[in-house]
Amino acid sequence: MRYENVEKFKEDCGYMIDGTWYPRVTKIMEIKAKPQLYKFYAEVGFEEGEEIKAKSASEGTLIHEAFEAILIGQNPPIDASIAPAINAAVEFIKTNKIYVDPAFVERRVVNYEHRYAGTIDTLALIGGKFGILDIKTSLSIYRDYNLQTAAYMDTLRAQNLQTRWIMRIDQSATCTKCGSTLRGKGGRDKIRDPYPRPMGYQRCKEGTHDFGPVTGHVELKEFPYWKDDFAAFLGAKKLWEWENDYWLRKISY
Ligand SMILES: [Zn+2]
Repeated sequence: MRYENVEKFKEDCGYMIDGTWYPRVTKIMEIKAKPQLYKFYAEVGFEEGEEIKAKSASEGTLIHEAFEAILIGQNPPIDASIAPAINAAVEFIKTNKIYVDPAFVERRVVNYEHRYAGTIDTLALIGGKFGILDIKTSLSIYRDYNLQTAAYMDTLRAQNLQTRWIMRIDQSATCTKCGSTLRGKGGRDKIRDPYPRPMGYQRCKEGTHDFGPVTGHVELKEFPYWKDDFAAFLGAKKLWEWENDYWLRKISY
C-alpha cells in the first residue's frame, strides 16, 4: 500500500492511544486475500464494484449505528430503509434474552502484549454465558470474522470471557411463488435461490417473481474455540507488518 506520508499512514492504519500508536485489527485483516471479492469485481467491473462496496458499507454502518444506539438505551430515529433489519434485531434480543453491557458498546480495546488495538461491538450475556458479540450485516457469516474476534478475545482476557458470537442482521424480500430472496444491499438487487433449496426447486423466469414485503432476519452463531484463530491472526499481523515495514520503521514501531 502507498501512503502520502507518515501521518496519513498512522491515521489510516491505526489508533494513537496514550501517546503510542497501535495498528488496527480491521486494517491488519485486510492483508488476507478474499477470493470471493475478485469474482465480484470480475462480474460488475472495478469501478461499479467499488461503488457497490461503498454503498453497501454505508448501509451496513447505518444498521450498525442504529442498533448500537438502541443497545445503549437510546431511541434513535430509524431510517425506513433499514427498519425491517432493526426491528428484527430488537425483537431477537428480547426473545432470546440477550443482555448487553452498555459500557462495552463500541469500546476501544488495546492489546499491549501483542501491540494492536480495535473496537469491539459489545460484550453480552447469552444463555448464561458471557462473551464478545460482534454484529455483521453481511450476506453470511464468513470465517474471516473469526480472526477479528479472536484478536478481541485475547485482548479482553481480563474480562473472563467464555465465548464469542457473531450476530448477523440482514433484510430481504421473499418471492411468494418460488421462495427465492431479493436483497438490495449496495443498490444492487441480487436474487438468490432459497437455502436450503427444496427438492425440485424451480425459480421463476426472470421478471416474473412476486416479491413480498422486505423482512428482517437475524442469525446468531457461537464460536467458542478461538486459540487457533488467534494464532492465525498473529500470523496475519506478522505479514501485515512485513508488508508495511517501510512505514513502521519510519514511526519506530
Ligand atoms: Zn419467484
